Amino acid sequence: MSQKEHHTFQAEIQRVLDIVIHSLYTDREIFLRELISNAADALEKLRFLQTSGQAILQPEAALEIQLTADEKEKTLIITDAGIGMTRDELVENLGTIAHSGSKAFLQKVAEAKEKPALNLIGQFGVGFYSAFMVATKVEVITRSAQPDSTAWHWTSDGAGGYEIEPAGEQPRGTKITLHLKEDAKEFSENWQIQRIIKRYSNFVPFPIKLNGAAINTVQALWARSKSEIKEEEYKEFYEFIGHDPEPPLARLHFNADAPIAIQALLFVPSRNLETMGLGKSESEVNLHCRKVLIQAKAPGLFPDWLRFLKGVVDSEDLPLNISRETMQDSALLKKLNKAITGRFLKFLAELGEKEPETFEKVYGAHSRFLKEGAITDFEHREALAKLLRFESSAVPAGQTTSLGDYVKRMKEGQTEIFHLTAPNRAAAEGSPYFEGFRSLGLEVLFSYEPVDEFVFEHLGAFEGKTVKPAEKADLKVEAGDGGLSEDDARLVANFVKETLGDRVGEVRSSRRLVDSPAVVSDSEEGMTSSMRRLMKAMKQDNAAQKSKLDLELNPRHPVVVGLEKLRQSDAPLAAKVAEQLFDSARLGAGLLDDPQVLLRRMHELMERVVTPK
Ligand code: ADP
Ligand code: MG
Repeated sequence: MSQKEHHTFQAEIQRVLDIVIHSLYTDREIFLRELISNAADALEKLRFLQTSGQAILQPEAALEIQLTADEKEKTLIITDAGIGMTRDELVENLGTIAHSGSKAFLQKVAEAKEKPALNLIGQFGVGFYSAFMVATKVEVITRSAQPDSTAWHWTSDGAGGYEIEPAGEQPRGTKITLHLKEDAKEFSENWQIQRIIKRYSNFVPFPIKLNGAAINTVQALWARSKSEIKEEEYKEFYEFIGHDPEPPLARLHFNADAPIAIQALLFVPSRNLETMGLGKSESEVNLHCRKVLIQAKAPGLFPDWLRFLKGVVDSEDLPLNISRETMQDSALLKKLNKAITGRFLKFLAELGEKEPETFEKVYGAHSRFLKEGAITDFEHREALAKLLRFESSAVPAGQTTSLGDYVKRMKEGQTEIFHLTAPNRAAAEGSPYFEGFRSLGLEVLFSYEPVDEFVFEHLGAFEGKTVKPAEKADLKVEAGDGGLSEDDARLVANFVKETLGDRVGEVRSSRRLVDSPAVVSDSEEGMTSSMRRLMKAMKQDNAAQKSKLDLELNPRHPVVVGLEKLRQSDAPLAAKVAEQLFDSARLGAGLLDDPQVLLRRMHELMERVVTPK
């Protein structure tokens, strides 16, 4: 007499199965992640029984997961020596809705118009049924770890119901045999299974063996306590997940419980391909839940500007929450993002204080991303501003300083932070815009990258001090002897304005110049010469062209003093000098488009000099 019992699935389970069986999707390989996770859970439960001193069946059985892939038979078998199931548990766990998850799953599928969120199937507590994505028939042989248990054999084709019968003498644990669909026979290929295990289940904390060979050799370091981990293990782990033979520059390994459970191990790689001129890189931080991969290179886990990081973030809060929320707008992901971004910024700030040399390396390799953040990410701008480093007139060439240190060095009564963009240090120190600062002993931050102009503009202020281009500073250098009187200075300015006409904005006498006869300045708010150059390069200069440059004259410079006399004795020659002053000032600011006119005029003037009178 057959002992076979026929059972029907609960209606909701059958609906889950219908969806799973009839959906076509690309990532059906996740069925293996689900079955391996179940096996690992079963082993975990067994280990718990063992450590709490309870009697168990076959205590000598190894706590591991074995897979057998058989191409000829088109089967895949997953075996664990875990806690197993009694007959009642089998009926309860694989035939009814033990948890409310299937309801949530069905709702999710109904909501998703195009591609059901099948990747998340395991998080609804219905992961087992994903086996039917690839199998026409699933057999489960299981024997509970209770000492007096017997084994049971569960079989189903996913349509309508399942059968249960006694399974005779069996080892402890569960053995699941998948009879693969014709279009899923690749899952009986050794290399495919190996690839999938490595992708999703590599960090499962029990050995996984495929046809006898161990597959998962690298441990989930992030879940271990820092004090127990050797440098060598970190190194091996980084090589594994980072695919990078170069050691990382820095690493952050941390745990948090509130507001959300996080275990994270993040690395700062030694270089970034984007910085080296290749296309935009993507974050290589993988999102795990209890050591099982949820999403590789998870988008949305970090702000875009942190895309240079590699590593792992694990949150056990993930499944519960995700089933309650819609996938797209996961408030949980936002929470995770906020928590780890804040923590990472704090880490960098501490590195800057405690290990400045390491920080410098990190900054050297990835400053462009931090600057991108300072420009685009309002929420983290303040924290990022503290990390920025610049050369400065107050520190030797080649060294850098932070905005915070600049503020500490500010002079009594100084309310602004000044910066100057130039091609290099020599150009910055030689700039006519800098000479006033030098003579007044005011510090100026030097930057040599055009993007810094935008960074400073977006910062606006730091610790309550306005950030200002040096070109825009209102400086008053003490007047020495031998300069023009105020009246004469006005007269020569008027003369230059008349000569240049519409080509110049205002011409005025300046008090910020020391060694240079003249500079151009920009009356437009926030516009500097380097910004103009940048906009020109980006062909965005229409607006900039409309506003004319002003010209400032140095009433103490011999050329300007001489010009005042010359305009009365030889007006045509004085006009040439006026033109030359304007062109040289524009050349100095990098804003002269065509040097030919200037050169011709200069040659004329040189001719005058060398011709005997
Ligand atoms: P979940 O794992 O989220 O509970 P699943 O659909 O994956 O949902 O599995 C349903 C239940 O079936 C599990 O909770 C567990 O009780 C039981 N089960 C599945 N696989 C095994 C196994 N290999 N060993 C013991 N029990 C298992
Ligand atoms: Mg499961």
